[in-house]
Amino acid sequence: MEKTLILIKPDAVEKKLIGTIIKMYEENGLTIEDMYMCVPTEEILAKHYAEHIERDFYKGLVEFMMSGKIVAVLASGENAVSLVRKINGATNPKKADPCTIRYLYGSGVQMNAVHGSAVIEDAIREIEIWFGN
Ligand code: UDP
Repeated sequence: MEKTLILIKPDAVEKKLIGTIIKMYEENGLTIEDMYMCVPTEEILAKHYAEHIERDFYKGLVEFMMSGKIVAVLASGENAVSLVRKINGATNPKKADPCTIRYLYGSGVQMNAVHGSAVIEDAIREIEIWFGN
């Protein structure tokens, strides 16, 4: 069974959407294996967003991700990585399909409610970062 990493970002936690968002994953067949809340450190975010460190938006993204609590979620299911990406929707909520989490609850390209691992290799790397072995 495939595993993937989800982060419920500070904007969605602030809007009291944790339950609503978890329910959407469960209703689409995913199993929640583990989860916890935290205010992420700069160090863990630097590992998580390593591919974006040189990008203009990186500093603002890290500040946003540290602005409140997030929920780190380890989910499993058939094609869990691509299924979560489909449920999440496009990075820009305005371009996301209706019924996706980002379309329904995202407020912009940065504050887009959730993260989901992009590919299986990323999922393995990100699960190690957030949940260890
Ligand atoms: N992001 C941002 N500005 C941008 C592009 C991305 O703040 O111009 C943020 C946004 O929160 C996004 C995250 O950086 O979810 C990671 O970007 P990526 O392109 O990997 O998108 P994702 O895989 O999350 O859809």
